[in-house]
Amino acid sequence: MKKFKKIKPFDIKIMRKKGFHSTINKDTLNVIKIVNKQSGWKKINSCPVCNSKSLLEWIEKFSLRIKVCLKCSHGFCIDIPVNISEAYENKVQKLSYQGIYEEKREYKIKRFASERVKLLRNFDKRNSLLLDYGCGSGWFIEHAKKFYRCEGYEPTTYMADLIQKNLKVRMHTDAKKLPTKFYDIITLFDVIEHVEDVKLMAKKLYSMLKKGGIILIFTPNKDSFAFDLMKENQNLVIPPLHLHYFNIKSLSKLFDRYFKVIHFETSGADIADLFAYERDHGNKRFSQFLSKNMNTLQTLIDNSERGNHIRLVLKKRG
Ligand SMILES: [Zn+2]
Repeated sequence: MKKFKKIKPFDIKIMRKKGFHSTINKDTLNVIKIVNKQSGWKKINSCPVCNSKSLLEWIEKFSLRIKVCLKCSHGFCIDIPVNISEAYENKVQKLSYQGIYEEKREYKIKRFASERVKLLRNFDKRNSLLLDYGCGSGWFIEHAKKFYRCEGYEPTTYMADLIQKNLKVRMHTDAKKLPTKFYDIITLFDVIEHVEDVKLMAKKLYSMLKKGGIILIFTPNKDSFAFDLMKENQNLVIPPLHLHYFNIKSLSKLFDRYFKVIHFETSGADIADLFAYERDHGNKRFSQFLSKNMNTLQTLIDNSERGNHIRLVLKKRG
């Protein structure tokens, strides 16, 4: 029998506080209100990965529709803001970033950044040049710069300014000005699900990498246990912030022209998310069961490649 990959649990008290889902929903609804007041919405008629128009209704949340492509199985929001940046450059997101992310910074570096660097070291042990694409508040760079020469790309300017000031790394805010054939490694943690034109992004990533360069991607897994069970109640289903819902099939389709998949695994918080939902809805008995058996259940799910986060390493072709 194949030996199970053990999972490293995370601290529920820090990562799944009371009101976890309702806080995310409240913030997302506020973003929707801002888009309503500003540029409004446009409709996507074909699959952003394979262009197919054969689509199936999948989930509706906050009156925004998410469909699935019958050809490549990609899930995507068909109602999206005319101007995507309105969803990010606003007071709601700024406050939520300060509240949700900054208070967990130290823990995130210790628990998650070290694990991510460790995964990268399996593929590149040199003092390589790394770009963290969509680096948010920069907590991954803060740790990664001990191992790699790091730069960051973050279009949200108040965050980019903060990182440049605090971490003293070169920051980019304009995707059009990013250098070509320059980086050995590009990391994208919880980024590609936010990007409108993912095909353009795949091409762009290819052009930025040096020969033989690698990419590490983390993104929600549409084929996960949590998505199947919780549907629109899943905290990763947040249109219009998450525009895309990938699985390994649609990711392979998106990147196949430019990259070879050299590593795929899932590592989820399926049971933690379900636990937080049941706890906050007063289902004491079930949430206690989930809490007690969290690691056993999540280990089974991750080893079945059904965890709600995908970790993908790609190598540049040619
Ligand atoms: Zn498709």
